[in-house]
Amino acid sequence: ETSAPTHFIRQIIERDLAAGKNDGKIHTRFPPEPNGYLHIGHAKSICLNFGLAKDYAGGQCNLRFDDTNPHKENEDYVNAIKEDVKWLGFDWEDRLYYASDYFEKLYGYAVELIKAGKAYVCDLNAEQTREYRGTLTDPGRESPYRNRSVEENLDLFARIRAGEFEDGSRVLRAKIDMASPNMNMRDPTLYRIRHGVIHHQTGEAWCIYPMYDFTHPISDALEGITHSLCTLEFEDHRPLYDWILDNITIDCHPQQIEFSRLNLEYTVMSKRKLTQLVDEGLMTGWDDPRMPTIAGLRRRGYTPKSIRTFCERIGVTKSANSVEMGMLEACIREDLDQHARRALAVLDPLKVVIENYPEEKVEMLDAPYHPKDESMGSRQLAFTREIYIDRADFREEANKKYKRMVTGGEVRLRNAYVIKCEQVIKDDDGEIIELRCSYDPETLGANPVGRKVRGVIHWASASQGVPAEVRIYDRLFNHPAPDSDKSVESFLQHINPDSLRTVQAIVEPSLRQAEVGEQFQFEREGYFCVDQESSHDKVIFNRTVTLRDTWAK
Ligand code: ATP
Ligand code: MG
Ligand code: MG
Repeated sequence: ETSAPTHFIRQIIERDLAAGKNDGKIHTRFPPEPNGYLHIGHAKSICLNFGLAKDYAGGQCNLRFDDTNPHKENEDYVNAIKEDVKWLGFDWEDRLYYASDYFEKLYGYAVELIKAGKAYVCDLNAEQTREYRGTLTDPGRESPYRNRSVEENLDLFARIRAGEFEDGSRVLRAKIDMASPNMNMRDPTLYRIRHGVIHHQTGEAWCIYPMYDFTHPISDALEGITHSLCTLEFEDHRPLYDWILDNITIDCHPQQIEFSRLNLEYTVMSKRKLTQLVDEGLMTGWDDPRMPTIAGLRRRGYTPKSIRTFCERIGVTKSANSVEMGMLEACIREDLDQHARRALAVLDPLKVVIENYPEEKVEMLDAPYHPKDESMGSRQLAFTREIYIDRADFREEANKKYKRMVTGGEVRLRNAYVIKCEQVIKDDDGEIIELRCSYDPETLGANPVGRKVRGVIHWASASQGVPAEVRIYDRLFNHPAPDSDKSVESFLQHINPDSLRTVQAIVEPSLRQAEVGEQFQFEREGYFCVDQESSHDKVIFNRTVTLRDTWAK
């Protein structure tokens, strides 16, 4: 049905469709908890769930907020998540749900379990509960409250809901098997008491909140989900997922399928750690361009398409691995190489005076926006007697391999003339502060006759160019797996102190009009986009990515 690359989940779905399961329909969901912003790992899950729904006839995908931990969640996160899913190019249409929509129904199912003798109110405290649970090698012990009568359980559970008991004093547990080799099956908690929190959707209506393992299968079933896709750490929760649905009266029993989560080198991908980076002021916010969040990547200059391409390329498997940052960067580079306009920007300006060029003259030179795509049109570059080139493009002396400017040598200015360095001016400390050059008026769009020019460099007019702040980003961490290094106390110790470097650049005049979010290739430098803090009076660019892969070890 589709041209997308196949993987084991597609194969399962296609087998189910062929067998006429679920009335030949596929229905998935993306279930974020609104306790932080979405990151690139979530993008994998979004592309998978929404992508499958798109690829199969009649497919549907719900956006469901898994909002059962009100103390960590809020409406701002809800809104940011919606924005990011949309931005990535997906649409839940009228299928927006909250697990909290089901609180009343969930309560009813809990009562059903109690009535069937399959759930009980337990008064052990957290520490005792842990102790009774046992370990992987020892079976657990049954709670002394396990054999309460149905009547007593019903009464207590109703009074818990009514707010009669303190946080932590009691929980509702499933009665399954304290000797199960699967710890999740040792009478897991279904409900806990939480007073005094205002839930972003239900306000103060509830003082009990259902646990994920109870909420998730029921929410899936209530929504008619056919394939409930989650990450591998939920593999040994699957027996509990199935147990819940097998022990209540509900028609639908979705199939849980696990896949490996995305890990990216040189960053962290847990919301807890990302929250820490933001809360401790190490980042400017969730959308700091160094963050692996969707909002951060967007601000950094990533396009939705580049992220979707990345998610397609990494594939869907069951093997845990870590993906190289170079792979993500290759995706944005490919997209921008095709679509970004070219521009000239000097990031480390060195003044050049062209002595044989008239003093007041401003010559407008036409330059195409893209070397391979005429339809993108062209802009005007201003050529003047004083210009800037990049400091790295000049050496007093260099061998033939150096394809830039040297004393006495000629070089072409991109889209302009050939110039020759006649004299180097230094300050008292011996630092080069200016170059005196000459230009050859015959070389506009033509090669000089009988001489060989070393190379082509970029430039900007000193009087017509625009000062701009350019933010150069590097890896956020100096360690490929900052949160799995056991030799340090905190992953924060691996933060790269040079992850942001700000430079004052001179850019070509047309860039003054650039709008927030617009993307450019600064020739020979990389891909850049206009930051949201930029204005026509103070232009700010973010470096999205370098021109070539710099991650290779
Ligand atoms: P975190 O550990 O960052 O808090 P989470 O899994 O608790 O992640 P949720 O908001 O519950 O975050 O995630 C929503 C969905 O996104 C889940 O189905 C989850 O499996 C999936 N997801 C989260 N992180 C990744 C990842 N790194 N790779 C693939 N899928 C992910
Ligand atoms: Mg979760
Ligand atoms: Mg989480």
